[in-house]
Amino acid sequence: MRHVVVALVAVVVAGACGTSGGGTGTADGRPRVVASFYPLFEAATRIAGGHAVVSNLTPAGSEPHDLELTTRQVDHIEDASVLLFLGRGFQPAIEKAAARAKGAKVDVLGELGSLLPAPAAGTQLTIDPHVWLDPRLFTAIVGRVAGALAGADPANRASYEANAGAYMRELDDLDSAFAQGLRSCDRRVMVTSHAAFAYLAARYGLTQEAVAGLAPESEPSPQRLASLAAKVRAEGTTTIFSETLVSPKVARALAREAGVTTAVLDPLEGLSGADAKAGKTYVSVMRQNLATIRTALGCR
Ligand SMILES: [Zn+2]
Repeated sequence: MRHVVVALVAVVVAGACGTSGGGTGTADGRPRVVASFYPLFEAATRIAGGHAVVSNLTPAGSEPHDLELTTRQVDHIEDASVLLFLGRGFQPAIEKAAARAKGAKVDVLGELGSLLPAPAAGTQLTIDPHVWLDPRLFTAIVGRVAGALAGADPANRASYEANAGAYMRELDDLDSAFAQGLRSCDRRVMVTSHAAFAYLAARYGLTQEAVAGLAPESEPSPQRLASLAAKVRAEGTTTIFSETLVSPKVARALAREAGVTTAVLDPLEGLSGADAKAGKTYVSVMRQNLATIRTALGCR
């Protein structure tokens, strides 16, 4: 508390220069929240509503898998009031730096606990990290993020909770739209680029066949591509989904081999600078994804 008072006095004297005063908060006494990648950044920004300063470690338009950190970012992590990240091998550099963080550390994947199914056999990662693509798991994450902000800044708890509540209602509507929109479809197999949509598929009764593994850079073998092409023909699949932040080369090769088309399905691992500028959000991109899936699977 004394730090806050001292910081406030300093702001008055210095004329609110807006630079961080070191330690865990900003010069004007607000908590500094550091999010490891886009979905956590958006959740924290919505919940903070200006009461906290939120930054994103993954640059716009970059893939978050295996993100490498600059020295400056490591310092940011150390000094954050709240660090939000997704553990178990998704971004190992952040997990390593988190060991030295002075503020609250929230591994949202670890905190989902019993909500998560067991990891798929034979996967490199101990568990599939793509929890944010299931609107209901993402709602649980939003609840954890709100708790972390309230813990770091109890004076604004009511505001954080109200903001989280409003956001969660939007996510609830999104979940209903998915459940309703994917209820009655001609096909239920979605062929994706990397294996990012298993939680979403499981939630709404679909099956995911991924061209690559849990990480986007893993290349499929020619045998895997051939067996996928055979499956695509057998299932009557019309569309191979490519992604926003990864080259569509492999998805296009498979589509060509199987004689089908491609469409972009956004795994929301990050927004491009243009998408962010255009005002796209988790909910708007997910609604776009729903429309894309409905077309591909022939849903009514
Ligand atoms: Zn991924």
